[in-house]
Amino acid sequence: MTQTVLITGANRGIGLEFTRQSLDAGDQVIACCRAPEQAQALEALAERFPQQLELVGLDLGQPQQLTALQRYLGERRVDLLISNAGVYGPKGLALGEYSAEPFADIMQVNVLAPLLLVQALRDNLAPGAKIALLSSKMGSVTDNTSGGAYFYRASKAALNAIGKSLAIDLADAGHPVVMLHPGWVQTDMGGPNALIDTEQSVSGMRQVIDGLTEASSGGFFSFDSSPIAW
Ligand code: NDP
Repeated sequence: MTQTVLITGANRGIGLEFTRQSLDAGDQVIACCRAPEQAQALEALAERFPQQLELVGLDLGQPQQLTALQRYLGERRVDLLISNAGVYGPKGLALGEYSAEPFADIMQVNVLAPLLLVQALRDNLAPGAKIALLSSKMGSVTDNTSGGAYFYRASKAALNAIGKSLAIDLADAGHPVVMLHPGWVQTDMGGPNALIDTEQSVSGMRQVIDGLTEASSGGFFSFDSSPIAW
């Protein structure tokens, strides 16, 4: 049976590859991005998959836009929600160079928006619908051996805390939740020296999502299925 997948940040990088692989698998894809009119890669996919791909505008820095998404969906059911959009914030800052200003934007997109998204779409989740949150190993306190990246690390650690609570709160409704580390991936965020391409990262994460059960809900896994310490 065709499943409906909703993906945020679908216009480039990992979100675009999730969109591609979901379309290839025959899924109905609701691809959310903040500027659909500029999303050329998604438009090209929409020509190849006119029945399967829907483009919806969603700026996660503007939580009121979730109301428009709710209106767009109406009574429709979503089988898989992939909260992928994320921002890194200023790169390469040393201790002493941080200022308060970017923090709120990073937390808004990486932490608050995924929570508000799940909350807004709760009634649209199909029975057994799964939720995948794109986290990062950089959110692992245990794994932090190099310091720095204060805002990004803090945002992904906070996202993990949110994902764990969602897993607990949605368990009775039968919606497993997983936090995913995509690997170090060649995207605008990951840069050209990253170790893997989006194809490898996303096919691995799709396997983790396929294998997600109530028992593994609330876990934090790498794209290669290995568990990551908090
Ligand atoms: P990119 O920087 O390549 O893409 C980020 C995506 O998020 C874009 O689609 C971007 O849209 C979207 N986005 C950013 N801000 C907003 C917003 N306010 N509203 C809506 N969409 C927004 O990143 P990746 O594809 O590499 O990363 C995807 C996820 O994976 C992120 O959560 C990231 O933290 C995580 N990750 C990535 C790693 C990597 O090595 N690449 C490693 C670990 C985790 P727009 O084009 O409009 O800016």
